[in-house]
Amino acid sequence: MFKVNQDYLKLPGSYLFSEIAKRVKEYSEANPEKKIIRLGIGDVTQPLCPAVIKALHSAVDEMAEADTFKGYAPDLGYEFLRSTIADKVYKPLGADIDKDEIFVSDGAKSDSGNIQEIFDRDVKIAVCDPVYPVYVDTNVMAGRTGTYDAATGLWSDVIYMPCTAENGYAPELPVNGRDGLGKDNRVPDIIYLCFPNNPTGATITKDALQDWVDYANRIGAVIIYDAAYEAYISEEDVPHSIYEMRGARTCAIEIRSFSKNAGFTGTRLGYTVIPKDIKDSDGNTLHALWARRHGTKFNGAPYIVQKAGEAVFSEEGQRETNEQIAYYMKNAAYILDGLKSAGYTVSGGVNAPYIWLRTPDRMSSWDFFDYLLKEANVVGTPGSGFGPSGEGHFRLTAFGSYENTVEAIDRIKKL
Ligand SMILES: *Cc1c(COP(=O)(O)O)cnc(C)c1O
Repeated sequence: MFKVNQDYLKLPGSYLFSEIAKRVKEYSEANPEKKIIRLGIGDVTQPLCPAVIKALHSAVDEMAEADTFKGYAPDLGYEFLRSTIADKVYKPLGADIDKDEIFVSDGAKSDSGNIQEIFDRDVKIAVCDPVYPVYVDTNVMAGRTGTYDAATGLWSDVIYMPCTAENGYAPELPVNGRDGLGKDNRVPDIIYLCFPNNPTGATITKDALQDWVDYANRIGAVIIYDAAYEAYISEEDVPHSIYEMRGARTCAIEIRSFSKNAGFTGTRLGYTVIPKDIKDSDGNTLHALWARRHGTKFNGAPYIVQKAGEAVFSEEGQRETNEQIAYYMKNAAYILDGLKSAGYTVSGGVNAPYIWLRTPDRMSSWDFFDYLLKEANVVGTPGSGFGPSGEGHFRLTAFGSYENTVEAIDRIKKL
């Protein structure tokens, strides 16, 4: 009799958003007259912009004609998109990235989850706590995280870098690992960083990111840098790409998405950058391995979607997507100001569409979730769902409509 992959069975129970959905459903069935406002899940609500729609239409028309029809896309993505990304994203930052180092994909979730496959099973990973769950769970599935402690919510072989109010939600170099857990060998091989951060909305300064790059080069680690929210950066000293840092070409992979900057959550497009200079201790290049992996397991993002992605970088596309981002950031500002005036301790929301708040009166994250659902009919995300250091925190997103955002915050202010 067959057995399933035993590593998958190690994943702990209910997924955060299923539990949220369950509680919201129970409440709304018991209280059908209440208007519930959802500021929980990180999905966009604005429709695709006109420049993208136009590109989609014309690409669909090309597919209808024998002489312009496209079959399989090139494994690594169409040349037109990869060179546009190199020119429009990296060149203006002074980042030395060649188009051949860009791998187009169907999104950042799959890339950030799949990238661990090209590393040895014994590599040690370091993650921020709280964390985007994909990084840890995919390493659990790969059997490299040790045992799970349900009491603490921690894996024995993962290095956690707590991001708390005390350190401004910015991780510190994992020299001694997590306090109280510190083993001697807490030297990571893979370091997952995500800035601007989901869930905390925190950012990292250029100097701090330079420290991470220097550290990774010193110890021979790879940084997997998730820049899905890059487009939301509004402040000067915040790096847009890890390749703005000296030495990043020998240690950093960057993952990007069209989901949050251009509303492609349902359209699906992303890319991963792997410089050819990153080599393991035996001189093997990650670039070659990822190309091999891509060629074997992935048949390319759709032509029509890659054309839509190219349109995001047109003048029109830039103007229109910037307007969408400004719309969400107006929501973020309303949430930040409203919660501050109501006495909450809040952060994020300046370079990211997420607002991270401390629960009042030391309420647990889930107690605050229930309280907000029942008393204000507002749904957010309990911080503890992103890791133990998220306990006592709560995430609200700026991705709703302005009207709903205003109504939700006005209700919270009246509590
Ligand atoms: C939303 C999100 C992604 C993205 O996703 P795709 O839609 O799969 O491109 C990646 N990383 C983080 C941290 C996110 O929040």
